[in-house]
Amino acid sequence: MSQIDRRNFLKLSASTLVGITMGSVSLRALADEQIKLDDPLAMAMKYVNKSTVEGAMCGNCAHIQGDAAAEWRPCNIFPGKLVNKNGWCAAWMKMPG
Ligand code: SF4
Repeated sequence: MSQIDRRNFLKLSASTLVGITMGSVSLRALADEQIKLDDPLAMAMKYVNKSTVEGAMCGNCAHIQGDAAAEWRPCNIFPGKLVNKNGWCAAWMKMPG
């Protein structure tokens, strides 16, 4: 390996390593994070963990995703966050069907 090849190889490995490390950290955060009530988007959407609106909750909203049995589930409106199945926000829309 020439001097230049070696330098490029080292540079590439270092940046690849940083990319992989940061990638897995952010992916884990995305997968696990329950939404906080003081999250700016949650506040803007008036999200609460327990709905006070009769018959409307995250569990029967058209935007809810993921495993129907889980207490905390992904929602289309809050990318990378989990919302409570009993929660509610201003984007609530009746689940079709
Ligand atoms: S849009 Fe709002 S009400 Fe519907 S699942 Fe998401 S957080 Fe819950």
